[in-house]
Amino acid sequence: MEVITSLEAWKTLRRSWCGTLGLVPTMGSLHEGHLSLVHRALAENERVVVWNFVNPKQFGPQEDYRAYPRDRERDAALLRTLGTHYMLSLAVEEVYPAGFQTEVCVRALSQQIEGARRPGHFLGVATVVAKMLCLISPQHAYFGQKDGQQCRVVQQLAADLGMLCEIVVLPTVREADGLALSSRNRYLSAEARAQAPVLYEALCAAAAAVQAGCVDATQLREGIRAKIATRPLARLEYVSVADAETLEEQECLRGTAMISLSAYFGPARLIDNVLTTPPADLAPTAALRRRT
Ligand code: AMP
Repeated sequence: MEVITSLEAWKTLRRSWCGTLGLVPTMGSLHEGHLSLVHRALAENERVVVWNFVNPKQFGPQEDYRAYPRDRERDAALLRTLGTHYMLSLAVEEVYPAGFQTEVCVRALSQQIEGARRPGHFLGVATVVAKMLCLISPQHAYFGQKDGQQCRVVQQLAADLGMLCEIVVLPTVREADGLALSSRNRYLSAEARAQAPVLYEALCAAAAAVQAGCVDATQLREGIRAKIATRPLARLEYVSVADAETLEEQECLRGTAMISLSAYFGPARLIDNVLTTPPADLAPTAALRRRT
């Protein structure tokens, strides 16, 4: 595997490669969740590049940009064992040189859910993703459902800008007890780690309620709040029951919903989500798809 740290070196290499290329965007500090994307990319492309860059534009002023875990050596070693072709790890000044002034804003989707709590976050995400899709020009780019809203923002961006790249979304990889893998899990104390699986348990209970016929979003939100309140270390930030396409909050579920939440356990801010479709909506949706 080649570790590339220079923009010019990457450009030269990219211009000389005409085969299929898969991109896995990450902020490094890799875990099995990231690696699941790399495995899939390797299966579907002749060459794979992992983007390893902690993007300052997507962190708010009070957020953990400086403290965000970084371990390039370990990341490179892990990627090498999988047979990854390139790890592209550029300096902030290469990605955002002096005079950089372009921003990409996916308007409505960026305002919802996480965006309402993290102003500017999806502006930073969309800007860096647009830059990397141009610079890398992959046939496929791989993202995790773990960051469900990010997936929607990126899909919309790619569609709106007429990107030829296919956006592939893969399922969330979890620990045996259901906790979604995250680079931020390392901030959890042993006690908090033991309580954190409640997030996924609460989401699964809500999805099960939908499957049992509950389409009342308020009731679903309350059920999640009550379950999480049983764990004293959890400080719930929000619960959202939103349309999976528009990400608008729902009162009564119609079509596929994304149920998502964010909670603090001490300094660790964890997010998770599940997708669920009320049984009564499955048949009409399929019929609609066939017509279009
Ligand atoms: P990050 O390094 O946190 O920006 O994540 C890079 C990519 O890995 C994003 O597309 C994430 O959604 C994805 N990812 C992070 N955690 C997981 C996980 N537990 N399962 C699957 N994908 C993940």
